[in-house]
Amino acid sequence: MARQSLNRRRFMGLSGAGIAGLMPGSQALAQITSAPVPDLILINGKVYTVDPLEPRAEAFAVKGGRFVAIGKTEDIKSLAGRRTQVLDARQMTVVPGCIDAHNHAPGAILLYDVIVGNPYQVEFVTIASIVDKLKERARTTPPGFWVEGFFFDDTKVQDKRALSVHDLDQVSREHPVSVRHRGGHTTYYNSKAFELAGVTKSTPNTAAGTFDRDPNGELNGRVTDRARNVFLNVGKRATFGAEQTLIRNRDALAFISEQFVRHGLTSVHHQGGDLFALQQVRARGDLLHRVSYEAQDDMLEAMVAKGIATGFGDEWIRFGATAEHTCDGSFSERTMALSVPYPGVEPPYQGNVTTTQADLNDWVERMHRAGIQVNCHANGDVTIDMVLTAFERAQRLHPRPNFRPKITHCTLINEDLLQRIKAIGAVPAPFTSYGYYNSDKFRFYGEALMQRCMAYRSFADAGIPAAAGSDFSPGPFAPMMGMQGMVTRKGWNGETWGANQRISVDEALRVLTINGAYASHEEAIKGSISPGKLADFVVLADDPHTVDPDKIKDIEIVRTVTGGKTVYGA
Ligand SMILES: [Zn+2]
Repeated sequence: MARQSLNRRRFMGLSGAGIAGLMPGSQALAQITSAPVPDLILINGKVYTVDPLEPRAEAFAVKGGRFVAIGKTEDIKSLAGRRTQVLDARQMTVVPGCIDAHNHAPGAILLYDVIVGNPYQVEFVTIASIVDKLKERARTTPPGFWVEGFFFDDTKVQDKRALSVHDLDQVSREHPVSVRHRGGHTTYYNSKAFELAGVTKSTPNTAAGTFDRDPNGELNGRVTDRARNVFLNVGKRATFGAEQTLIRNRDALAFISEQFVRHGLTSVHHQGGDLFALQQVRARGDLLHRVSYEAQDDMLEAMVAKGIATGFGDEWIRFGATAEHTCDGSFSERTMALSVPYPGVEPPYQGNVTTTQADLNDWVERMHRAGIQVNCHANGDVTIDMVLTAFERAQRLHPRPNFRPKITHCTLINEDLLQRIKAIGAVPAPFTSYGYYNSDKFRFYGEALMQRCMAYRSFADAGIPAAAGSDFSPGPFAPMMGMQGMVTRKGWNGETWGANQRISVDEALRVLTINGAYASHEEAIKGSISPGKLADFVVLADDPHTVDPDKIKDIEIVRTVTGGKTVYGA
């Protein structure tokens, strides 16, 4: 009975609060008995609300795109009217819509470019298949134009050797050819590309990037981080008119939106992208997920110049933090900046730092003063220290409540960094799916470092609300794969690394929902199934609390609902 009366109170409390905004005190209570009939009710569910006031429920009601009541099936049923849509969950599991706090949403690449690896799943490909796909593209590409491949993963190659400049020379000697690692920080080039960029075996490396060599000192094709800048303005690339670009971008965003909701994501923090196209996709009804738009380049500068701060927009498209300000290399490609040399690498190498402390300080201060939530990409302990230094300085110069600077990835921590993250109120967004998908790369770091990488246990214990950051393209974005990675730390190859950082299913669910909402200052309107919040939820065929933890990633997404509207499944 206590439970039921709590349910009643929560429903009434909400209606009262909603109506109280329009009219004073007791009149509001009188209105509750004639509360509006819900548009939708879900009954007979195993509902994990992620709301500490009422963690479990059976049912809820939705009106105007928001949850209006949560409780037992019989209570919620009694609210329904003739026009209320009734979803019978048949004892399936229901969770809040999942939130990805770091995603490049590369719809255009997926639709239009040559994909040489599997974006969504672990799959081993052959170097011959990569060469063949690029050869086919080269056949329809005029000489001098780039032929590019995407979603390469160096540890998902059947050949058990590195992709090389010689492989890519087989594609063409007339075209510059590149294959981008899905991690986004390394690219492989052919001889024509090196020739056009004027890079030879004697071109020096810098602290921000390298031209890698084979044992004989010849270029092997792999180029890391900022060293790739020399390729930016050489060779030709297809250009499209304004109208054609808009159409391509619209189709790409509509496509990626379908992929997101198919996997149970209802909110995604986008790294830049075509904002106009995004609004058009929404206007024509094809935006199925909510976007925290993280601006970069010209768009970010326009925000600063014109006074657009974080939070501007609405519950579908809202300016969030800045796009990641990149400060070091990559975890998956082993270029992140470490305080110790990479185990077993000769000559000794500690990764790439792609900014200076002074530049970083200036950038963070400028964004912070402009009212824009800062977001820095920092993987290694060296770089996390640098971004915290910049955050601490900005907050000292210009204190603001609810600072919440994002540390995208925040991969390798230590006790000191943990305390400083907590003290400044930073929100890390570590990789989630890597625990499963990229376990084949953990050996490059070794167990001692992996115990401090993707440190979800450490963050949870310190009370730091780490959010999920798939980083797609680099990591698959499926939240259930992310959950399995966080819960088991066991990879596709059966290897377990850093098991001390395991978290529970409930903790992982918080990472995937409410913490993502917190990361964009939206925890008051999303991230849990609570009265008054946006009705974003997912129906799962199985309960991640009770299935074999090694099968969480296989749980079928039965239905995804955004704002009370079914956007995937039936
Ligand atoms: Zn990223």
